[in-house]
Amino acid sequence: MSAIISTGEPILDSLARPLRDLRISVTDRCNFRCVYCMPREVFGPGYAFVPRDDLLTLEEIARIAGVFAAIGMRKVRITGGEPLIRRNLEHLIEMIDAIDGVEDISLTTNGSMLSPGRATDLKKSGLKRLTVSLDALDDATFKRINDVDYPVSRVLDGIENARAAGFSDIKVNAVVRRGFNQHAVLDLAKHFRHTGCIVRFIEYMDVGETNGWNLDDVIPASDLVDEIDARYELEAVSPNYPGEVAKRWRYRDGAGEIGFITSVTQSFCGDCSRARLSAVGELYTCLFATRGHDLRDLLRSGASDTQLLQAVCEIWQGRNDRYSELRANGASIPVSGQAKVEMSHIGG
Ligand code: SAM
Ligand code: SF4
Ligand code: SF4
Repeated sequence: MSAIISTGEPILDSLARPLRDLRISVTDRCNFRCVYCMPREVFGPGYAFVPRDDLLTLEEIARIAGVFAAIGMRKVRITGGEPLIRRNLEHLIEMIDAIDGVEDISLTTNGSMLSPGRATDLKKSGLKRLTVSLDALDDATFKRINDVDYPVSRVLDGIENARAAGFSDIKVNAVVRRGFNQHAVLDLAKHFRHTGCIVRFIEYMDVGETNGWNLDDVIPASDLVDEIDARYELEAVSPNYPGEVAKRWRYRDGAGEIGFITSVTQSFCGDCSRARLSAVGELYTCLFATRGHDLRDLLRSGASDTQLLQAVCEIWQGRNDRYSELRANGASIPVSGQAKVEMSHIGG
């Protein structure tokens, strides 16, 4: 393999944003059919998932991560689809952990495959942090959302297994959608107080084209802050670093921290340092993109690391995405006829 030549300088996009984070989708498949992400009417029998040979191999993914690290990427999040479906994922984590410059590796999962053994293997592989998605604490609501009859108790077991394996500060992601699970907000806040888990409430987003998103379904995070504050007093906490996705709050009584991801009502494009790599090796420079840049062909046609690095630099330097900001300003994007890519394809 050729040596990667790094200038040592962070690469900036056309809006002067560095590339710090890489989200890697390792599969487009999932064992859930969350109604807001992979609705059964679209992702049911007959849906054409990516054939195995089209997926990047774990070694190809690690090689691309190495190229990104050479131009300033410091944090990797592994996601999907459901990332724990991917075999030997722990080997990928080990390879990424060994890359110079990578400071943090995290994984987002629906928690259904976090057995005690798997959680221990993930910890041993070098995974630093875990986020588990859980949108409600009552089975009726959770099953209506996951649409595969999956019970809450098994996700809670997964969280416990992760904790027992040594993961601390586990994050719990809850997408809040009006008329669906708004009652779950206080349940989740209460359940995870004093546990060290940080619940992060996410505004329902218009990702992809299949979930029938409507602005009326979005509950502004500021309303949720008011609701929780009325029950358990909150105070704002300053961000850990510029560009942190979640706005942080803590309980005044010392019961812990919670967060809010305000992608719709308070966009944070100005600090967005995230790139996304799909399971087939396309590079997306925005969650709401309509097209990716194919790195797999380049990789499989024998490109050197330097050529890969040049390609990634050119893509990042040409980046001008700020979808949420434009949406907030009332712009209608993308132009009609161009479909936004699905979340399960590029990873959340
Ligand atoms: N399957 C894993 C999981 O559910 O955690 C990882 C992939 S999933 C696409 C990543 C995150 O995206 C999850 O927390 C999920 O709730 C969130 N998500 C999916 N569709 C969303 C939407 N339309 N708006 C906001 N968040 C969404
Ligand atoms: Fe699967 Fe995660 Fe999407 Fe739910 S949110 S369908 S668990 S990828
Ligand atoms: Fe980043 Fe695109 Fe989201 Fe803005 S809309 S924060 S550019 S991913």
